[in-house]
Amino acid sequence: MPELPEVESLRRYLVREGLPGSVIERVEVESKPSPERGTGVISGVEQLPGRTIKNIERRGKQIAAVLDDGVLGLHMGMTGRIDVLADDEPTPRFTRVEFHLRNGGSASRVVLADPRRWGMVQRFASTAEAFAGLGPDALDPNYTAAHFAEAVSPRKSPIKPLLLNQSVLAGVGNIYADEALHRVSISPSRRANRISGKNLVALFEAIRESFEHALQFIQDHPDDRGRPYIVDAHDDRMKLLRKPGSFCPRCEIPLLTKKFGGRTAYYCGNCQR
Ligand SMILES: [Zn+2]
Repeated sequence: MPELPEVESLRRYLVREGLPGSVIERVEVESKPSPERGTGVISGVEQLPGRTIKNIERRGKQIAAVLDDGVLGLHMGMTGRIDVLADDEPTPRFTRVEFHLRNGGSASRVVLADPRRWGMVQRFASTAEAFAGLGPDALDPNYTAAHFAEAVSPRKSPIKPLLLNQSVLAGVGNIYADEALHRVSISPSRRANRISGKNLVALFEAIRESFEHALQFIQDHPDDRGRPYIVDAHDDRMKLLRKPGSFCPRCEIPLLTKKFGGRTAYYCGNCQR
């Protein structure tokens, strides 16, 4: 599932492709949704024709197109892709929504292709509504490591599920949480209130470093059409290889796994305490 660096790379790509300033002329929605797949909602799109996209904003893993009237929330779900198509490019398989845009003299098409159907497109009144329930964005320059340490240090929860709680800090998911905890040698099971303030600051800095590293990696490795490759993060953007039988890059011993609420953590039983 895309996490902050993948979603931010998508946001930058949509801005680069000229979405801000474009007018939505027409929206096509799949006619026969397959009921056996996911339940991602597509709603409110009938009110979109005639609206102008002012900007593309992001908080955590959520992205929203700010319109001249209202906001369009976009979510890729587990395996969805949002792409700007070339003029001669056919609509991809599993397209659920296709937006026809015009920016001055040039037309473009933006699609959500979503085989598992967990993606969402929803109209909201405001960004506050689109981002409701989300805590501060992990890359918000006004949110510091000291704020993070202060927010989590009283909590008795193990640190891993706390990092995944989007109302505490928005943007970290399973993959980057494991990566950041490994970087600072903290066990995913450690209770937040048992981690020193200094180590919480280091953890927050490790989250930012792994995000910045991934953003650069994604920018340097576009797909063959120049789009950000964002579907998963099992490549060199990570130091920790999250798969069965992989090893700690420091200790070179097999990683352990542990489930927190159905989410598997990969960690080293030797160097992460
Ligand atoms: Zn280790």
